[in-house]
Amino acid sequence: MNIILLGPPGAGKGTQAQRLVDKYNMVQLSTGDMLRAAVKAGTPVGLEAKAVMEAGELVSDDIVSALICDALDALDADTGVIFDGYPRTAPQAHSLDTILSERARLLDHVIELEVNEEALVDRITGRFTCANCGTGYHDRHKLPKSEGVCDKCGSTEFKRRKDDNAETVRQRMVEYRAKTAPILPIYEERDVVTRVDGMADMDTVTQSLVEVLEG
Ligand code: ADP
Ligand code: ADP
Ligand code: ZN
Repeated sequence: MNIILLGPPGAGKGTQAQRLVDKYNMVQLSTGDMLRAAVKAGTPVGLEAKAVMEAGELVSDDIVSALICDALDALDADTGVIFDGYPRTAPQAHSLDTILSERARLLDHVIELEVNEEALVDRITGRFTCANCGTGYHDRHKLPKSEGVCDKCGSTEFKRRKDDNAETVRQRMVEYRAKTAPILPIYEERDVVTRVDGMADMDTVTQSLVEVLEG
């Protein structure tokens, strides 16, 4: 099973991908996470991507498609994949077609998380993650059960993304509207798209995704 989670910044892609990974034997491939790791490690890709990410713009198609190729090649052929934050442009969508067919993988579902734009700034500005295991939290919607301690691994260190500020979010939304939303028709033609209400609470969204995957 190979699925794409589509949605604007803060829609809940990462949150739901983590839950699907826990429930099914699938792997989450997040180009955002891969790029942040490259920036942190100071690789050539990271050096090129850093300023672009901080400005809320999109990193080049060639870079992200190469990251996806490498990540897929490190997996067993039968491990299911959740694409989180990729593809984000029409050229990336076309590259993904090639990348998947070269590896005899089929695209089973493209799930769009629909959210009100006004909610996204609230989602993004309250977002933080465990510095150790990456579990996602929110200042208002999902605090750790025990204050300051990660539910999953017990770490007391958390981090916030440099690009999660109100100004950058607006630019990321502009990019989403201009470049990412227009790829949906490519998939609609193939009858693989399902829209899910991303404004519902996290458990309800997960339930909707499970219905799509098991439906
Ligand atoms: P994305 O990966 O699409 O950018 P995230 O999954 O990181 O989005 O979610 C953004 C923030 O919103 C996180 O802090 C997360 O805890 C919170 N969040 C995710 N889904 C919901 C939801 N259904 N309701 C309220 N808050 C949510
Ligand atoms: P979010 O979860 O808020 O949607 P991501 O973590 O997916 O954000 O991406 C963070 C940033 O990394 C983006 O704003 C962009 O600069 C870059 N990025 C991530 N994925 C891609 C991609 N597929 N194509 C181009 N740029 C990307
Ligand atoms: Zn943790």
